[in-house]
Amino acid sequence: MDTEFRMDRRRFLVVSGGAITATALAIGGLSGCRRDADEEDKEGNAVAQLITPLGPKGADELGMILAHEHIFVDLRTWDQPGYAEAETADVIDLMAPEIAKAQEAGVTAIVECSAVGVGRRVDILKAVSEATDFPLVAPTGIYREPWVPDWAHAASEEELREWMTGELEGQIEETGVQAGWIKLSAGDAGITETETKILRAAAGAGAATNAVIGSHTIRGRVVRDQLDILEEAGYTPDRFIWIHTQAEPDFELHLEMARRGAWVEYDGIGSGGDRTYVDRIVRLLDAGLGDQVLLSHDRGWYDPAQPGGGTPRPFTYISEEFVPELTAAGVDEATIHKLTHDNPFRAFSR
Ligand SMILES: [Zn+2]
Repeated sequence: MDTEFRMDRRRFLVVSGGAITATALAIGGLSGCRRDADEEDKEGNAVAQLITPLGPKGADELGMILAHEHIFVDLRTWDQPGYAEAETADVIDLMAPEIAKAQEAGVTAIVECSAVGVGRRVDILKAVSEATDFPLVAPTGIYREPWVPDWAHAASEEELREWMTGELEGQIEETGVQAGWIKLSAGDAGITETETKILRAAAGAGAATNAVIGSHTIRGRVVRDQLDILEEAGYTPDRFIWIHTQAEPDFELHLEMARRGAWVEYDGIGSGGDRTYVDRIVRLLDAGLGDQVLLSHDRGWYDPAQPGGGTPRPFTYISEEFVPELTAAGVDEATIHKLTHDNPFRAFSR
């Protein structure tokens, strides 16, 4: 059964039926873990918070944050038998020890990047977060073609924007979990018509909620098009994360997107090529762009396509192996703190 698809579709139908306000407010209001929109500092400014299933978290409650990891992913398309299905207890059994190891290594929160299309199961995410008392940040949004489900192909830009806004302001699929950010993607050969519609919808939802948009985009020239589309839609590149920047071999494009204001995310750390990562990070720091760099592993996860969920890869490489390499390359402690603590909080909080 395609549980996730049915749940998302039901949610979508609620939204498209115009009943969003009553449903989202009635159930979202009961959850008790929504961001308090009235949270203010002494000067009366809204305080940015990271939105998690355990409630909103302020910068003073958090340390190192991993910007791109997975607890649960299904890379089969939604029409495959068994797609996105698992026993919640099995996911907790497999992933809780990995979260415990990450905590021992200093990680205080993880941004989960599994959007609709690749097995998003926010009910499971919530259960894992509660069982481990560990903050995970859930996304709204839809992965690229061919993972885009039929209902999203059929939806208008406005309907998609309302659906995302509903998840960012209210909750995801009656789980009581508020979405923290928007995850989407674009094809390697160029952004498709449907992906453009989703991106424009995200621009509207992001502008309305100050949510950051992150896109899995392998080619820099596609990111260039995405930034053009976003700017045209009235959104700012400052609130856009280029996920998997490392996959683009032309470093000049990393610089170009960062200079336009976008976050560049090196999120394959621990899968080889450490020297290249260190070199690129140092070059971005030297160019004065260190405030826009995010680091992560793109690791985990429970995979329903594998027996027993497969074998997860640990979330500890950056703490244990990579940070010492940055230090050896002359990156000072304050800068490392910025890259691993401050930047991810600034990127994902709102
Ligand atoms: Zn990923």
